[in-house]
Amino acid sequence: MALINENYLKLKAGYLFPEIGRRVREYAQANPDKKIIRMGIGDVTQPLTSSILKAFHAGVEEMGNASTFKGYGPEQGYDFLREAIAKNDYQARGVDISADDIFVSDGSKCDTGNIQEIFGLDNKIGICDPVYPVYADTTVMSGKTGVCRENGYFDKIIYMPCNEANGFVPDLPAERPDLIFLCFPNNPTGTVATKEVLKKWVNYAIENKSIILYDAAYEAFITDDKIPHSIFEIEGAKKVAIEFRSFSKTAGFTGTRCAFTVIPSELMAYDSKGNSHQVKPLWMRRHTTKFNGVSYPVQQAAAAIYTEQGKKETKEVINFYLENAQIMIKSLTAAGFTVFGGVNAPYVWVKTKNNMKSWEFFDKLLIEINVVGTPGAGFGPSGEGYFRFSAFAERDNVEEAMQRITKLFAK
Ligand SMILES: *Cc1c(COP(=O)(O)O)cnc(C)c1O
Repeated sequence: MALINENYLKLKAGYLFPEIGRRVREYAQANPDKKIIRMGIGDVTQPLTSSILKAFHAGVEEMGNASTFKGYGPEQGYDFLREAIAKNDYQARGVDISADDIFVSDGSKCDTGNIQEIFGLDNKIGICDPVYPVYADTTVMSGKTGVCRENGYFDKIIYMPCNEANGFVPDLPAERPDLIFLCFPNNPTGTVATKEVLKKWVNYAIENKSIILYDAAYEAFITDDKIPHSIFEIEGAKKVAIEFRSFSKTAGFTGTRCAFTVIPSELMAYDSKGNSHQVKPLWMRRHTTKFNGVSYPVQQAAAAIYTEQGKKETKEVINFYLENAQIMIKSLTAAGFTVFGGVNAPYVWVKTKNNMKSWEFFDKLLIEINVVGTPGAGFGPSGEGYFRFSAFAERDNVEEAMQRITKLFAK
């Protein structure tokens, strides 16, 4: 008899985005004449830039030529890409990370989920509420939790509420987590962590022999010079942190697929007898056993992001999205909303009006003005009463959506 992994039965039925899709589809079918503006799912809208595309094409050409053809590449990624990452993302910022610490992959969603596999089932996981739903769901799948309670919290996960009172930056939890997921700039709140905040977390992890799983998928959107781009900018972090980065939002790779995980040699975890072990070789073993590398043309395309021209083009696209966010902040504030994020992140986090619930607000915007956003409650119970607007959209759509919202709430 084939037995299932019963942890999957603990998961709540729908992932957030299919539910949004269902409601939008139903509305669209019943109202085919309405122009719906989508600012819901966190997916980029701008195409790959010309230098990235050129490198991508050149990589494809090499695959069609016997003298340059490539078969399996190194599972951890080609040296040309790992070295470009180490040099530009880390060494250029004074952070001593080498190519050897970098594992190229097909996505941070997979990496943040898969990383759980090299850690024991007895670890207590600390997760922010609200946040990217992948951390909690993969923790449940891995078997580290109990069931889901009435309030939406899973037993054995240590939730760290992020709200207006703490500026959407988690306080140190009362109970000690062994693995701590942090995501800055944050999805969905668009908030960032200062050096002081990250230092506090790094010290906490050092004191408690915990590990921070730092998701920096939106690092490229940081505009404020004082905000760290990497947790490894904090002294001591190499002993207690793993960093996840992705080209998805940085350079429009959501459909192209390329990301990387950074694990310094200094990072240690412990066995049940309390002996310390390097984490990097465990991930190396996992990665080389279960993953066969990102395709060569895609890695060439990713490396082009680090050329002078690539950097310039990429920055222009990021600035375009950030300008969208500025337009949104201005309009929403003028319409009387309390607004967060959107400055160092592509997400604008809005408090609904009149204590409206997130899904109520979602339906109101969809039905009355045909604008789609993301209900905050979908990212965790503390997101209730909030709403996320994504700046990944065409300019005229942003402007039209903001005009519709202004009109609706000016009434
Ligand atoms: C979009 C996103 C990612 C990137 O995932 P990929 O699998 O690399 O596309 C990672 N973390 C967060 C929080 C995200 O929003």
